[in-house]
Amino acid sequence: MKQIAITGGKGGTGKSTVATAIAVELGKRHKVLLVDADVDCPNDHLLLGIERTKVRTVYQRIPTWDFEKCTKCGKCAETCKVNSIFGPKGKQPIFLPQQCNGCGACVITCPANAISWSEKEIGEIFRGNGHGIGFISGELKVNEAVSEFVVNALKEEVKKIGKGYDFILFDTAAGTHCDVISALEGSSIALAVTEPTPLGEHDLELIMKLLKRLGIKFEIVLNRFEEGMEKLIEKVAESNGKKIASKIPYSKKIMENYSKGIPVKHESIEKIAELVE
Ligand code: SF4
Ligand code: SF4
Repeated sequence: MKQIAITGGKGGTGKSTVATAIAVELGKRHKVLLVDADVDCPNDHLLLGIERTKVRTVYQRIPTWDFEKCTKCGKCAETCKVNSIFGPKGKQPIFLPQQCNGCGACVITCPANAISWSEKEIGEIFRGNGHGIGFISGELKVNEAVSEFVVNALKEEVKKIGKGYDFILFDTAAGTHCDVISALEGSSIALAVTEPTPLGEHDLELIMKLLKRLGIKFEIVLNRFEEGMEKLIEKVAESNGKKIASKIPYSKKIMENYSKGIPVKHESIEKIAELVE
């Protein structure tokens, strides 16, 4: 089994378009599992028109208070580093659950044993099939902030079902934050998807820096390529000892298919698939 990550420092570069297209291309010859790890905003199922079925609810542990025991010492509010507890000494603490990351510091700190554990639902894991590939995605509930629990639950599900596949493709979130790092872990190669703009150039630098630090081999994919506009990305690629591995053109046909949920078919996608095979 080979794990490949499709990533990019910037949102809106067409990372999901590339991930779904390569998954479908590889799926013609191999058993492929596409993992949508952008849990804040999963959209691969929409691009592929795959109907998802929920397979798991994701919970996060959170503290709960027994105010009969609470002496209003204020220590839990002092301890919480993410300001999830409000309550100075002499006042009953008020808990703001959206910020809580379940670290447990308040439970350990409370001298009156007034805090114990409860849990809340923060996300869901879905599965589906379509275009000859298996599909799995995680989704963080609206108004929840701690996405890492959903990414971890997604990775646990992938571990359970991944053995039967030749290729597992992780479509990561955009950026270089913890969820992206978690989704990149275990990949033998990453595709850094970018676009020919100054923002694309800047964010490509960031993602290349991260991939180098993680020791993950990578190739650069330039999306929405137009003749003469590639210089910017070529320059930053060369300064990192790389060349653009594949260029997906900016075309009306691709955009039309994109809006209809038809995966991109183009020689540039075939080239990337061959590269990672
Ligand atoms: S640390 Fe415990 S006793 Fe002190 S305010 Fe918090 S809940 Fe109450
Ligand atoms: S579990 Fe951690 S983050 Fe949550 S309220 Fe307690 S100290 Fe704050």
